Amino acid sequence: MKIGFIGLGNMGGPMAANLAKAGHDVLGFDLVAPCPDGVASAVSATAAVTGADVVITMLPSGAVLRSVADEVIPAMTTGPVLCDCSTVDVDSARVVAAQAQAAGICALDAPVSGGVGGAAAGTLTFMVGGTEPAFAKVLPLFEVMGQKAVNCGESGAGQAAKICNNMILGATMAVTCEAFALADKLGLDRQKMFDVVSTSSGYSWSMNVYCPAPGIGPQSPADNGYAPGFAAELMLKDLRLSQQAAETVDADTPMGAQAMALYATFVEQEDGRGRDFSALLPRLAARRRG
Ligand code: NAD
Repeated sequence: MKIGFIGLGNMGGPMAANLAKAGHDVLGFDLVAPCPDGVASAVSATAAVTGADVVITMLPSGAVLRSVADEVIPAMTTGPVLCDCSTVDVDSARVVAAQAQAAGICALDAPVSGGVGGAAAGTLTFMVGGTEPAFAKVLPLFEVMGQKAVNCGESGAGQAAKICNNMILGATMAVTCEAFALADKLGLDRQKMFDVVSTSSGYSWSMNVYCPAPGIGPQSPADNGYAPGFAAELMLKDLRLSQQAAETVDADTPMGAQAMALYATFVEQEDGRGRDFSALLPRLAARRRG
């Protein structure tokens, strides 16, 4: 397929490289990042999308997505799919999809989970909103860049799935770290705590797969000085998107709101920026109540 790829940063770069490696004709554009091996460089976003079968965007925010969409949609001929893989607010995903549809272009919101490691290894999970024919057209590309793609429903459903998942993840990681810090103060050995919780009703991905305590459970960023992994500021971004969405639809999400406030303090007032989101454990372990 002929693919236009806009946004070649930490995630987009390796995703575009994997598509090129699989034999697709990929034309890339980024304001700053260089094109990875195998990806041809376009002089502008509009040049990257002209004549493409599928246009993929991997951008930092909904505002940037909206401005890129304004620029490229008029340059896309009828028939292609505009597939945004960024994590953005549900409203931006829906506005861009409507704008594309009005121009005769199918749109998908297809945010990912799996991080930079998953992007490089081609093992991402795609959560997709949009029509079935558009999903079917892009599925072979999802299969190159990832190991699973779920069609979640109409436009915006992919972003909704992503922020709900990450709201669970943020709150679960926070309470897992709290529980380790409490266990320390109660004199309970961390390994024993893991042995019990990982096989009891408190188990979770945060405990069992990505344990925030160094030297315990499978390898995780905790074993690497809390280098990310999944950076605390990216978790904060997703928690903010979840709370923004909750406000829009008047949903009561008190745990998500608490997790957002905790990560905001950690990232913006403490030393959380640039550290893995599981680095809440040393932060909490060093603190007293109140
Ligand atoms: P990044 O900042 O490394 O990459 C974004 C790229 O977009 C940059 O290279 C930037 O130059 C480019 N860009 C910005 N404005 C542009 C424009 N107008 N035209 C062309 N290029 C433009 O970010 P990333 O880590 O690759 O993340 C991308 C998206 O994926 C974000 O929405 C993020 O929330 C999401 N995400 C990231 C991770 C992760 O672990 N990094 C995991 C899941 C989802």
